[in-house]
Amino acid sequence: MAQDSKIEWTDHTFNPWVGCTNISPGCDHCYAESWSKRSGLVKWGNQPRRRTSEAYWRTPLKWQAGAASFMARHGRRQRVFCASLADVFDNKADKTWRRDLFDLIEATPDLDWLLLTKRPQNILKMLPPNWPASGKPNVWLGATAENQDHFDQRWPVLAMVPAVIRFISYEPAIGPLRLRTSGPQPDWLISGGESGHGARPMHPQWARDIVADCERFGVAAFHKQWGSFLNNPLCFEMGLSAKEAEALDAHGKGGGLLDGRLCRNFPENRRLSIIAA
Ligand code: SF4
Repeated sequence: MAQDSKIEWTDHTFNPWVGCTNISPGCDHCYAESWSKRSGLVKWGNQPRRRTSEAYWRTPLKWQAGAASFMARHGRRQRVFCASLADVFDNKADKTWRRDLFDLIEATPDLDWLLLTKRPQNILKMLPPNWPASGKPNVWLGATAENQDHFDQRWPVLAMVPAVIRFISYEPAIGPLRLRTSGPQPDWLISGGESGHGARPMHPQWARDIVADCERFGVAAFHKQWGSFLNNPLCFEMGLSAKEAEALDAHGKGGGLLDGRLCRNFPENRRLSIIAA
């Protein structure tokens, strides 16, 4: 459980507990499930979740204590991805653990907590009773949408939840996805291809289309990675070998350049304007 994350869009990861149940095709090659098998620390599926240690739970308080110096060095707040080895809005997780998590979030107002779920239908009933009508200033809420069907199911649900930032993780992208032409839009969208053994392909055009939609509708787009050089346009369309492509594009797994540019935007400006309003 890394305290300083290698994930390009966060500074830290925090797992209040570990363990989850696969619920959609995006879970088929779940990194956390593979990790659970390697570590033997928790059984996957409809099995008890395992709360992480008290010492580990104190780590965000250290990040909070260092917030002023982080801001002085980086000119922005720290981001905490919660959770990489579980789902915060999992029905099988102990309610008191989630209550403790929200207490921790309350105690760390200078950290931006990025809560990402595949179960947005549970968010409203699992938020603390004092959740502000405009969202909590240090909580961004996100849903994973691995393809259009899951975006169409999950985004309308997430769009109804009060949050200063709502985001979509289109990763692993296993099918095309386009934003709606009407109605609310997410503030931020992360895209990325699947990596690892047996990874499913991501067509370069899917990334072009969703980034173009984001630019059209004012959504901050963050293209994280291609997952595999097989998906990278340098190989897929221009015929370079993986080694040749890697020399030109060393960003993320399988490279991350989208037609020669790095597309890595964040929605902070929107968050600041909401809080100031
Ligand atoms: S919801 Fe996330 S953590 Fe849970 S099984 Fe699916 S991919 Fe893994």
